[in-house]
Amino acid sequence: MAKTTVVRTAAKSKAVVGAKARAIAKTEPASAKKKAGSTVNPTSPERVAAILDALQKTYPGVVCALNHKNAWELTVATILSAQCTDVRVNLVTPALFKAFPTPKAMAAASLPELEELIRTTGFFRNKAKSIQGAARVVVEEFGGKVPQTMEEILMLPGVARKTGNVVLGSWFNIAVGVVVDTHVMRLSRRLELTKETAPEKVERDLMKILPQDRWIAFSHELIHHGRQVCVARKPRCVDCTLERLCNSSDKTWTSH
Ligand code: SF4
Repeated sequence: MAKTTVVRTAAKSKAVVGAKARAIAKTEPASAKKKAGSTVNPTSPERVAAILDALQKTYPGVVCALNHKNAWELTVATILSAQCTDVRVNLVTPALFKAFPTPKAMAAASLPELEELIRTTGFFRNKAKSIQGAARVVVEEFGGKVPQTMEEILMLPGVARKTGNVVLGSWFNIAVGVVVDTHVMRLSRRLELTKETAPEKVERDLMKILPQDRWIAFSHELIHHGRQVCVARKPRCVDCTLERLCNSSDKTWTSH
């Protein structure tokens, strides 16, 4: 009974905070307040450290959302995740890996077989060619094992730096770069960590200002934040743990 009361009270408080926030937002447009924090260098070590700290506390121990049991499965899942949700990829991969459990098996698969299994992830013809081609390179050039350097992993068809960083970082724990997907791109720009729009340039900017030992976790945290709070349309700033640090013109509510 007591527990129920606490939950209800917490829910009520949140609703009240949200209502207050919306009321303030009506009278104080975010754009009018943007100037308040705009004199601070957005990439200063202190500000970057504060952002990293808030992200780590909000998303402790967060990991890649693509289901996988080994480096090869993660490589395939990441290739399939282009222009597709991780949820959709996770629905498709169990049957795919059951039918073709190893790079050798997938290298021998026909394109129509692969296309049928991955059809719902979109762009399935190109993706089927990529995963079949990647399987063949892994078998023929790397003895059936996913390579562990960016230079080598980029030899796999369908693998660009984003996929390379996902596999090297999430499976091998090798930080050679920062994963820049649509969420990391959008949030890095909103948080003024970069002004760039090309993924390679965004990654280069992030590598300059983030400590290397946070490269892997940072992208996981930002991806979760981008999915749950800092969504593309109408970011939920009133619920955002980075709000005090954010001066984005996209804000829907501001406290400063
Ligand atoms: S305050 Fe709003 S725009 Fe800024 S990071 Fe949070 S959700 Fe995104």
